[in-house]
Amino acid sequence: MTDFTMTTDADGVATIVWDTVGKSMNVMSRDSMGLLSDLLDSALADEAVKGIIITSGKDSFAGGMDLNVLASIRDESGDNPAQGLFDFTMNGHHMLRKLERAGMDPKTNKGGKPIAAALPGTALGIGLEVPLACHRIFAADNPKAKIGLPEIMVGIFPGAGGTTRLVRKLGAMAASPLLLEGKLNNPQKAKAAGVIDEVVPADELLAKAKEWVLSEPKIVKPWDEKGYKMPGGAPYHPAGFMTYVGASAMVNGKTQGVYPAAKALLSAVYEGALVPFDQALKIEARWFTHILMNPSSSAMIRSLFINKEALEKGANRPEAPDQKVKQVGVIGAGMMGAGIALVSALAGIKVVLIDSTQEAADKGKSYTTAYMDKGISRKKATEEKKAAVLDLINATTDYDALKGCDLIIEAVFEDVGVKADVTAKVQAVTGPDCIFATNTSTLPITELAKAAADPEKFIGIHFFSPVDKMLLVEIIKGKQTGPVAVAKALDYVRQIRKTPIVVNDERFFYANRCIIPYINEGIRMVKEGVAPALIENAAKLVGMPLGPLQLTDETSIDLGVKIAKATKAAMGDAYPNAEVDDVLFWMFDEGRLGRKSNAGFYAYDDKGKRQGLWDALGARYPVAGAQPDLITVQHRLLFAQVLEAVRALEEGVLEDIREGDVGAILGWGFAPWSGGPFSWLDIIGAPYAAERCDQLTEQFGERFKTPDLLREMADKGQSFYKRFGADAKAA
Ligand code: NAD
Repeated sequence: MTDFTMTTDADGVATIVWDTVGKSMNVMSRDSMGLLSDLLDSALADEAVKGIIITSGKDSFAGGMDLNVLASIRDESGDNPAQGLFDFTMNGHHMLRKLERAGMDPKTNKGGKPIAAALPGTALGIGLEVPLACHRIFAADNPKAKIGLPEIMVGIFPGAGGTTRLVRKLGAMAASPLLLEGKLNNPQKAKAAGVIDEVVPADELLAKAKEWVLSEPKIVKPWDEKGYKMPGGAPYHPAGFMTYVGASAMVNGKTQGVYPAAKALLSAVYEGALVPFDQALKIEARWFTHILMNPSSSAMIRSLFINKEALEKGANRPEAPDQKVKQVGVIGAGMMGAGIALVSALAGIKVVLIDSTQEAADKGKSYTTAYMDKGISRKKATEEKKAAVLDLINATTDYDALKGCDLIIEAVFEDVGVKADVTAKVQAVTGPDCIFATNTSTLPITELAKAAADPEKFIGIHFFSPVDKMLLVEIIKGKQTGPVAVAKALDYVRQIRKTPIVVNDERFFYANRCIIPYINEGIRMVKEGVAPALIENAAKLVGMPLGPLQLTDETSIDLGVKIAKATKAAMGDAYPNAEVDDVLFWMFDEGRLGRKSNAGFYAYDDKGKRQGLWDALGARYPVAGAQPDLITVQHRLLFAQVLEAVRALEEGVLEDIREGDVGAILGWGFAPWSGGPFSWLDIIGAPYAAERCDQLTEQFGERFKTPDLLREMADKGQSFYKRFGADAKAA
């Protein structure tokens, strides 16, 4: 069996079927690319073949390039990996150019065989770049199919001609959401956007493609014809000029200059637009190689694609029979419980949603109603779907309704006593096999498990707010949590299509443990007299989605005060954050609780829209005459987080650095360009990181003290991924 096979029918139409062996979706590998090239050669050389259809043996067309291939090419290319990657990319271009030219005479554009792409479903990445090289793209009318070039999302850009072809097909302006944002469309929308040519009923897909192939169509691409003009204008055309200048500003504004792929993509588009097509492909290949050689792109691919997927597929799932959830009980229908009920019902799981009053339970359920209504108004859901989802949620005060639940998720008030009561009440009804999970964000799981009948079946499933938007779920093992509970939590997270990390039970688990020092460092700088605008902009310029002060406003200052008080009570004299509390408690006393009170580190208008930083803050905390440089502020903000991640690893809270990196990006938006805290440390290198920590410790205090592990790695010249990565684990 091979990934591509070809048959030719009596009418002389050769059909090449892509069917990657052993995968549910087609992915392009190095070998399969060679195979496709060979089949094309033989079809183009065979006089009996009049035209070609490229289609798929699966429901979808293709998911894209096997991104492991790019990493392996770089690793296998000896001392000149850039050359290896460039040659590989150019090989791809030659193959697709051969497909596009299809044997036409280079001078007259005469002859050649028509080649149609027939997409039964989703076509992503190189799974769309191959069709873009074909002469006509047919897609089955399958509204669930996704068509697009999402490469930018993992820190690269379409490098198999997709960039050059799409811009020449649509113009830079129309191509920009597809290339720069990785926007995916269903077939109808992809046709409206001009990406594909025809949408046909699924059962007529091949027939329509064949009909076209046999119709002796014109197959020469516009850019291979004399006098071709780029839609919307090339860069030296007045309209084109505006597009390119605007795009450059937009990209820098959106990425703050930290995502090299977006800039490289723009360069490939701009420079490519100035030269003939084949030259443009070469330019695209050079920029593509440049990006593949950038440590940010490998780190992003590793965390956001390879490792994210591995975790979703259960890389750290203990051996246990299938634990798919049939009915979940959600206790507490507040902000979190309502969201948990929603995402569970959306996944088709029956939900019993309990609160202390029927009114509160109904209010929790109404969150799903509102969500579905919004979906309907945006044409993403239907009345039937809404009715089906709502039907799955039983909002009640009756604990007896929990009989038959195989998973309970408790999301009541953050109070040990209330949670203990609820645990006992629930367990009086549920069976011995039911797993009990708590969504606590601050209370130790091992402590809460004391109220459970069987602590082996007790676990933390920590969602982030808002539940329906946040992709990460942190699973926390208490001291006695057993493997079945972990498997249950993981299988549930998989059902609701989120990404799990599994950590051990220590104060604030993993995500909050790292994000709190980030917030604290920002506030500490306010107290020191660092300009708030410098703090906020330094954070954004290093790729944090929100500055620490804005984040404090979003999560609310009263929550910060509550956490500070609890931490102080637990740590006693060792509590290190008095300076932070000075600011935080004052803000609290002033009633500036953040977004929810329309007043915080930022000012807000009556409608709650954030304005600028609150200018009166300086009256209490004057801005110092001498300001630190940008890098110092950035390093304080980044090291505050990554040192906690390293300590979490040292202490065994994290068992897998992949979870540390993926969790950081999805959980609190840690500079995604870096691939996560451990990837960032690998990029800057342990020796430099340790040296920098020494300097920061001297200047700013013990909280930056180099962890022993980092010191040891610096001395030995080690990297986290070589020492702790999946390969090291397997070895
Ligand atoms: P919330 O106050 O919005 O909701 C709590 C709900 O629990 C309320 O509807 C309340 O009526 C109900 N409740 C209280 N006692 C009950 C009882 N004995 N029986 C049944 N229902 C009861 O709180 P929330 O923000 O949804 O937080 C809930 C839990 O999730 C807390 O443990 C919190 O720490 C955790 N959490 C919150 C966030 C967040 O961002 N808000 C994030 C992660 C985890």
